[in-house]
Amino acid sequence: MIHVPNRQIVLPTSALVLLAVCAVLIAVGLLVPSLTARAILAVLVLIGVAVLIRTALLARLSPNEHQTDSKADPNESEPGIFELGKLLDATMSGMREGLLVVNRDMRVVASNNAAYRLFNPTPRRLESQRLTELTRNPAIYSAFLDALKGIERTGVKVETHGPERLVFDLRVVPLASTNGAGAEGALGVFFDITRIERLESVRQEFLSNVSHELRTPLTAILAFVETLETGAMEDQESNHRFLSIIRKNASRMHGLIDDILELTAIEGGNVQLRSAPIELHALVNEVISSLATKAFANGIVITNNVAPDAVVHADARRLEQMLTNLIENGIKFNREKGQVTIRSESGTRDKILVEDTGEGIPAQHLERLFERFYRVDRARSREMGGTGLGLAIVKHLALLHGGEVTVTSELGKGSTFVIHLPHPV
Ligand code: ADP
Repeated sequence: MIHVPNRQIVLPTSALVLLAVCAVLIAVGLLVPSLTARAILAVLVLIGVAVLIRTALLARLSPNEHQTDSKADPNESEPGIFELGKLLDATMSGMREGLLVVNRDMRVVASNNAAYRLFNPTPRRLESQRLTELTRNPAIYSAFLDALKGIERTGVKVETHGPERLVFDLRVVPLASTNGAGAEGALGVFFDITRIERLESVRQEFLSNVSHELRTPLTAILAFVETLETGAMEDQESNHRFLSIIRKNASRMHGLIDDILELTAIEGGNVQLRSAPIELHALVNEVISSLATKAFANGIVITNNVAPDAVVHADARRLEQMLTNLIENGIKFNREKGQVTIRSESGTRDKILVEDTGEGIPAQHLERLFERFYRVDRARSREMGGTGLGLAIVKHLALLHGGEVTVTSELGKGSTFVIHLPHPV
């Protein structure tokens, strides 16, 4: 809702057309996914709103003049008589951006709901309040002050420090007076860029993790190549060992890049599921066969306890991928001669349980376990050729199926990972 003092004001047709254009721009802005396109539309809306508010302020200042005008041209005014409060209400309530208009005295004369939520004023209303009573943020104050001096301010970064940290990009434009004597007021629009900022920091963290993960094996490869070059090549015994270390590190980099590409594709929505009924017992047997060598090398026994007639609805290749990651972890993080058991339960959702008799996971790690690159023991995971992305891939694939993956664990006893899959609708 837009808050303006109660008074019926008549707007000329041109303003109404502009209002309609603004409404269309807002609608388009809500539909287009591109941030750049949204920013351009937002600027256009901002300009439109500035002109509208200026018209409204002029109408407020000289209502008689406007009434005379409207009488002079009944065709223009008759269908176009709108109450400003209702018109702006309809247009502005759809805006996610906070809108605040102040007069020359820095008192609020108009605002919308988004601005109300942003400032959360103690006397429960924004109108007539001084800007300094609403916020102590000097960036906001100086932007409005500049606008009152006729200077447009854009790209002012504003952060709130309430329970939820929000970040805004503030633009303030002057509302020029007709007699050219400076600005009559200033209009500020607060664009919520919290999500963009958050995505940017996630992206940066991801990039730094990837670089870090790649650098470790790369450094090892370079070091061993250098050792070979500076003489070790002639040493028959060590050159084979060094080459096998180089191969191990190169394949780690390979695995990491594969996992990154895979995760990026899943998260980017570029993976299409081909869900169908799957005979789970047979699929689990296939996964067990593919991991048999690894299990044997670690002395782990894998048991398929899935009922022979169990059927789940999923994308077979993706379910195989999830089970491979979970069972492989069950092998890697198990104790010597341990066990991994797979079974299923059906209910409101189908459950596939992968249980191991490993070391277990300390409770404080469980919440973050499915995050990218999160490991309980980084060195151990690396030693085992892990990328730290396996569980993140399982999580995203489960979500893609409309399900989820959960974990319970008991230290010293083992862990149980559960894939929950919904029934088809
Ligand atoms: P990776 O296995 O490549 O290290 P994952 O994403 O598959 O990466 O697993 C993340 C971390 O979760 C592992 O490094 C390990 O610390 C822990 N983890 C996963 N599965 C198990 C398990 N079955 N038992 C104990 N810890 C596990």
